[in-house]
Amino acid sequence: MTISQKTNGRYGEFGGAYVPELLMTPLNELVTTWNTIKHDSEFLDHLDNILKNYAGRPTPLTEVLRFSQAINGPRIFLKREDLLHTGAHKLNNALGQCLLALKMGKKRIVAETGAGQHGVATAAACAYLGLTCVIYMGSEDVKRQAPNVLRMRLLGAEVVPVTHGSATLKDAVNEALRDWAESFDDTYYCLGSALGPHPYPEMVATFQSVIGKECEAQCRQLFSRHPDLMIACVGGGSNAIGIFSAFLNNKNVRMIGVEGGGHGTQLGEHAARFQTLTPGVLHGCYTYVLQDTHGQIAETSSISAGLDYPAVGPQHAQLFAENRVEYVSARDNDAVNALQLLAKTEGIIPALESAHALAHLIKIAPTLAKEQCVVVNLSGRGDKDLPQLSDKIG
Ligand SMILES: *Cc1c(COP(=O)(O)O)cnc(C)c1O
Repeated sequence: MTISQKTNGRYGEFGGAYVPELLMTPLNELVTTWNTIKHDSEFLDHLDNILKNYAGRPTPLTEVLRFSQAINGPRIFLKREDLLHTGAHKLNNALGQCLLALKMGKKRIVAETGAGQHGVATAAACAYLGLTCVIYMGSEDVKRQAPNVLRMRLLGAEVVPVTHGSATLKDAVNEALRDWAESFDDTYYCLGSALGPHPYPEMVATFQSVIGKECEAQCRQLFSRHPDLMIACVGGGSNAIGIFSAFLNNKNVRMIGVEGGGHGTQLGEHAARFQTLTPGVLHGCYTYVLQDTHGQIAETSSISAGLDYPAVGPQHAQLFAENRVEYVSARDNDAVNALQLLAKTEGIIPALESAHALAHLIKIAPTLAKEQCVVVNLSGRGDKDLPQLSDKIG
């Protein structure tokens, strides 16, 4: 499989666009525009320029010797998306889509957000590009993520609390889609992960592929070949597909995606979609979805809001089917321990999401040869997680 261009929205049996008729008009318009603009060198150059001069790309690839020593591990390199403006990889996608909206003549952006990372990135991109920004956020999340709500408002966004359902991320997506269905004449829906109906998974993966492209060149420079192993956390799957994409064709590169293992193995206690392997449709996309025996979307649990979503991106479902990428999960407590270890040994506080990838590396380190080169995508920084951490660490 490739993330590229000829899939028409299908990755094996996964993907597609299962949306109400009302949304077919804006989606078809988006597919048409996307199919042109993804080859438009003027657009791509403009985006490159913004990523470099506004967002701070390229991000470094940092070898972490003391962390490696502490876990008696192989050579470990971190792709530092934590150093990107606004603190996570989300901005790569938000800037790409908001620039696309601008080219389409849409002046108003709607987006969903869970913890607020995609909301902050979208609000920043809109401020920078002069677009109006409306962020839908579950009212439970508005309460839990007060600092990010303030950030979005400072960046000029309107934050709309959603009180339906469980008042969390999936309800915010529903509201954003409902808004878009009524407003698409002047409004663009900026989706935050490699999820949802076609063309979003392909588009988001393409905007995040800059991570993998940079990383490929940096690996050549630092150790003159491709890595033996790559590890990334998987919420919707955008940071993982972004870094994996440049290496998928090289079968010698082993890849592992790490889901939120939460605090137990019962339905409702985790966000590990590959543990149950139950396919279904959520938010326009056929993929693995956590659900009960009646097909109702299940509650999920993870200490990191970015991994706490019941569906996984369709490209990952297919990479699993092809046996190309392994999918595992890490528990909340193991992620907290990994975060603390990286902070103490290297002076880097990773996002709790990224700490799941580190937790799995710690677990398998004894099985890896010392001379192996491992790349971990450090998808974001941990500043946003300080409230959760002060609860856990005391
Ligand atoms: C949102 C987020 C994730 C999870 O989203 P993906 O689409 O799976 O990448 C991971 N890490 C950080 C820091 C995030 O903000």
